[in-house]
Amino acid sequence: MQTSSVMQAMKGFAEKVKDKAAELRAELSEAASTPALSTPSAAPASIVGQLASESSEAARAASARQLGLHLCGHDIEGVSIAGQETCIILPRIKVAVDLGRCPQRSVYQGTVLITHGHLDHIGGLPCHASSRALLGLGAPRYVVPPHYAARIKAWLKMAHDLEGGGGEGECGWPCEVLPMQPGEELVLPSGHVVRPFATTHTLPSQGYILYTYRKKLKAELVGREAAEIKALREAGEEVTDTYQIPEAAFTGDTSGELFESPDAPADLYRARLLVVELTFLDDAVSWEQARERGHMHIADLVAHAHKFHNEAILLTHFSPRYSRAEILAALEANMPPSLRAKCVPFLNGFR
Ligand SMILES: [Zn+2]
Ligand SMILES: [Zn+2]
Repeated sequence: MQTSSVMQAMKGFAEKVKDKAAELRAELSEAASTPALSTPSAAPASIVGQLASESSEAARAASARQLGLHLCGHDIEGVSIAGQETCIILPRIKVAVDLGRCPQRSVYQGTVLITHGHLDHIGGLPCHASSRALLGLGAPRYVVPPHYAARIKAWLKMAHDLEGGGGEGECGWPCEVLPMQPGEELVLPSGHVVRPFATTHTLPSQGYILYTYRKKLKAELVGREAAEIKALREAGEEVTDTYQIPEAAFTGDTSGELFESPDAPADLYRARLLVVELTFLDDAVSWEQARERGHMHIADLVAHAHKFHNEAILLTHFSPRYSRAEILAALEANMPPSLRAKCVPFLNGFR
């Protein structure tokens, strides 16, 4: 398609998205008596305060260079193409989310958080376990929704056997398959805490929120002399409170129902970085069809834009039907400027 006709198509579509967004907003305000549909509770001032100053600039800078993104203090690598492969890597935390095809850099991540069982999200698991064993990198930990744990172990064991390894132990290669569900938490070797949350897809699925710890002087000690606080500390008294700060939230594959669910965690909307799937961008696949397929449509993001207190939003999992130019044109045409300013499309692998 010529760029001009794409732009024309997008313009027409923009009107439709705005209509759908208005329709959704009307539905939302009607149902505003339910807590999940109202604006999430106020984010901590420390996080909100950073939004205005950093979001647009960070998003624009990140849009300019795609291979090595840097957002909200995190380097971000990997690839995410719907139905083909998704693997989002945060190398400083040594964590990857999903492993569609095991990109080279994923091999160096000791923890992989799996969102669901579609092969574009788990297809690379045996290669990852095999490569790490070959390179002597230590046993990886695969965090998975409990629904899949037994079959992933059996699959790894079979793949190890195929590779001539004999399929010893639970998974063949040295690795841990750890079932986790919403309500549980895990401390990573980096010190970050991971908590899963339920998402809405065509298979059992979950997203993850990564937290960091921050210490702050106890309120009752603010204003006291440094020497006095030091003496209290030396006497064994706890002089600080510890807070968990939501650093990054990853939705994995999900429909927009996530944003309407009373169970969606408030931290989804106030994590500094939100990594969200956005599979469909135009009416070739309608909002209704996107929902049936368990995926996000751009109209969902537009309708819920008021909820996102995140500093930046990384858009992933675009359908391969779109080119890089079409994705950018669709975002420009359909998103209100305040939402567009904090959104960065993850375009690695798109032509
Ligand atoms: Zn997918
Ligand atoms: Zn999926």
